[in-house]
Amino acid sequence: MPSSAATASQPSPKKTPPTPPDIVRRIGETNDAALRYVLAPDPQLSRLSRKVREALISDLPPVTAGALLGPAALARHFVASAASGRYRDLFALWELFRARPEECKPVLAERPRALEKGRQALEKAVRLGLRGHAERVAEDINAAQGLIWQWLREALLGNLPAVGTRPAIASALLAREPTLRVPLPPEPDERWLAEAATAHQSTGMLAPPVDALLASGVDRLPATVATLSLALGHYPDRVGPLLDRVDLDSDEVGQITAWARDHGFADRLSGRIETLVDKTAAEDRVRGLALWYAWQERGVDLPLPEALRAPTIDDLDLTRPESAVLLARLIAEGAELDPQRKLDELAIRNRQLAEKAYEAFVCASLAVTLPTPLEGNPIVKEGTRCEYCRAWTWVRPGHERRCPRRAEAAMAEPPAPMEVPGAGPPPLRPPSLPVSDDPVAAWEAELQNAGE
Ligand SMILES: [Zn+2]
Repeated sequence: MPSSAATASQPSPKKTPPTPPDIVRRIGETNDAALRYVLAPDPQLSRLSRKVREALISDLPPVTAGALLGPAALARHFVASAASGRYRDLFALWELFRARPEECKPVLAERPRALEKGRQALEKAVRLGLRGHAERVAEDINAAQGLIWQWLREALLGNLPAVGTRPAIASALLAREPTLRVPLPPEPDERWLAEAATAHQSTGMLAPPVDALLASGVDRLPATVATLSLALGHYPDRVGPLLDRVDLDSDEVGQITAWARDHGFADRLSGRIETLVDKTAAEDRVRGLALWYAWQERGVDLPLPEALRAPTIDDLDLTRPESAVLLARLIAEGAELDPQRKLDELAIRNRQLAEKAYEAFVCASLAVTLPTPLEGNPIVKEGTRCEYCRAWTWVRPGHERRCPRRAEAAMAEPPAPMEVPGAGPPPLRPPSLPVSDDPVAAWEAELQNAGE
């Protein structure tokens, strides 16, 4: 609606005083916002009567109230806040002092004890940070200016041996004072190196002495995706040696192999893995096969170990997926192995194991049919059989999607009759014989059934 022209021409209504949320929106409620405001205040807010201002400030955040009242009030707020432990308000106090010294001096002169408490809070933060969150002290080193920097610097110089044990702090301090002699460890341990690597990654640089020490010890870094990324960015010639130290049993090895693949270092890792798998398979075919399969599943494509090339699977557990995968691989390479016969033999000995083996074979795309003894397996409850091949669908989820008989059934079926919406699921089809393009197979299957 074109109402703006009409309202613009109306005389403005009598000003109502701003509400506390209006003031917070105008001034902000951070130290930086309060500093910006107090150095360039809004004349309209400055003209508010003392009565109106006093009514407002009790509902404002202290820093906003201080900014509204002017530099001296804001300085009083920073001093009180730092004295109560929020030592980082000293940084803002210094900025305010630098911009408005004459208005701040009386406040500082009146509050020596509060300032001393603020300084003690700063020193305590340094002591705690030297044992804990080093990155916080490093941030303070970057932020502190003027007298506050002198206080912080003195606190650090009083703890120089501890500073040397925390590369994040040592680097920040040396970046600011390159000529300072910080006692760095001659042979830093893994923890020190890892902290230096993290500081390097988060700040993008390290002071030269800390950087040199990290570079000299980068081969001893714990091999993780984070340290590998650091090495790739800054010490590319060290990536290979670092990969040689990857613990192949570690929980992170899947991510590390993915990283290696993405950055063109797959061979460096797969060579080691191949050696390990070959050795394991030579000692124990079952364990070697499980290991080979686990790496395949992680996307590391390894050649089949020599010990697993023998054209037999008689010593392997046929219910395991890796056994079926090996069987399929050996057959593809020309071995004379008959998976259907293996399955039928197992079904006579143990129907439950045969149900599992059938599913493993189906998953490995082996051309098998459900052994006849399993069709009436009494351990399988009604309703848990595949409607196409009669397999026990509880063995492994998702059988219906990969059932080899399903596609064949779909091709052989006439189009399904129109379903009445809401009439419930269609009835299960009666068990049908495997449908095949080869009619002889159907005849033979019928003959087998008749002979039972
Ligand atoms: Zn099926």
